[in-house]
Amino acid sequence: MSRMTTTEPTVQPPVPTPTAFYVGGAWVPVDDRERLSVVDPSTEQEVATVPAGTAEDVDAAVRAARGAFEGWASRTPAERAAFLSATADALEARTDEVALLISTEMGTPLAFSKAVQVGNPVRVLRSYAELLVGYAFEEQIANSLVVKEPIGVVGAITPWNYPLHQVVAKVAAALAAGCTVVLKPSEVAPLSAFALAEVFDQVGLPPGVFNLVTGLGPVVGEAIAAHPDVDMVSFTGSTAAGKRVMAVAAETVKKVSLELGGKSAFVVLDDADLGKAVKVGLANCFINGGQTCTAWTRMLVPADRYDEALELLRAGAAKYPVGAPTAEGTRVGPLANARQYEKVVGFIASAVQDGARVVVGGPERPEGLDTGYYVQPTVLADVAPGSRVEQEEVFGPVLAVLPYADEDEAAAIANGTPYGLAGGVFSGDQERGVAFARRMRTGMVDVNGGRFNPLAPFGGYKQSGNGRELGQYGLEEFLEVKSLQL
Ligand code: NAD
Repeated sequence: MSRMTTTEPTVQPPVPTPTAFYVGGAWVPVDDRERLSVVDPSTEQEVATVPAGTAEDVDAAVRAARGAFEGWASRTPAERAAFLSATADALEARTDEVALLISTEMGTPLAFSKAVQVGNPVRVLRSYAELLVGYAFEEQIANSLVVKEPIGVVGAITPWNYPLHQVVAKVAAALAAGCTVVLKPSEVAPLSAFALAEVFDQVGLPPGVFNLVTGLGPVVGEAIAAHPDVDMVSFTGSTAAGKRVMAVAAETVKKVSLELGGKSAFVVLDDADLGKAVKVGLANCFINGGQTCTAWTRMLVPADRYDEALELLRAGAAKYPVGAPTAEGTRVGPLANARQYEKVVGFIASAVQDGARVVVGGPERPEGLDTGYYVQPTVLADVAPGSRVEQEEVFGPVLAVLPYADEDEAAAIANGTPYGLAGGVFSGDQERGVAFARRMRTGMVDVNGGRFNPLAPFGGYKQSGNGRELGQYGLEEFLEVKSLQL
């Protein structure tokens, strides 16, 4: 059983309970709306509530965004870059407070929250400010002048696992392109979005360029997807909700960009340093409590090194203490909410029923953690290709380990799910690793532990979505292309 570090969070943050939406550059009171509960997953207690918006709220926000569009689109790239830079600075100055909010609403360890949950958005905002300086919004093709123009009003719908990063990945790129935005963050973890709105207000972003409405997916999310004056929906979340957004948006033929779920494979080739591979693989799978869309949740190991790999995994997993997000030394916090907890524990139990062997962890609560949505980091062996836990996204700290006979079989298993988001390869020979990475039908592959690059295109093949975020490719998602024949 995993050992925890402490039962109580050591810091109690001041948690805001917003009563207004940010629309048209002002905080518009919405006192009479129903309230949605925000729960601290380490205590199972409500810590805040946010308003449940309506289709009328979306309409008001879209009108504000439409009204601001021409003015924002006509700003020079340098002017837009200056706003993004100022936003990065102001957000960075609030790192500790916003990181604590995120850890409180979705349970990720505080150190990770500061470094990644807030650090990445700051880096991404800066990356767009820098990118705008040199980006060519026009090109000449024979007798045509090709101009790239902002697509218009963007509806952004985001999940809870990297609540601020997923927001900023869309909003920074959309604003850089000259678009205006209506954001609906996740109802599970909406608090950092309010902090972002405050920051935009503080830096003087023109009214209506960024608008925030919280609420439920089927109400606010679908109102955004259906709205005739929204030109594009940029959605990150589950594949099921993404399909629904696409169907609703089809009625108005708006562009839909989807960042969805994954079931990524980590393929350890037979010449790899197994010890290093296991270390990197475990970190990738367990980071953020396994609630990462790109997590390598299937480790594929040469059959003749399978037992050795399981032993290394058993030892490695012990280095992932579970505990309160604010406790010193915690590497795995609670899962984000009760629904997620039930789902993950159910997956582990059903995998065992399907014949998987528990190497580490299991469906029982971690020792000493009786309150909070804690699960044990779990490693499962003897997982059959095609079984439920091998095919479906668990979204918890659960690693399935599969043996393979040769590279063809490894590629077939790696590519054998409906998803195609990410993956990893480990090999003693970089070129061999790259050659295998090319066989993987996914949008991203890290070779020998290659680091996350906030300028590289981020997105999936197959049912992991379409479109790309971050860097230049992320900017271009929000641009229309017009050709002028001269
Ligand atoms: P979710 O699909 O439940 O919710 C995501 C967002 O969609 C929320 O804001 C939600 O309110 C909204 N939504 C739900 N139903 C909707 C509907 N019918 N119409 C419009 N909007 C709707 O996902 P989640 O549980 O918040 O997040 C976890 C999922 O997100 C996982 O599947 C994960 O893989 C995926 N994800 C993908 C990426 C990526 O970049 N590919 C990144 C992070 C998370």
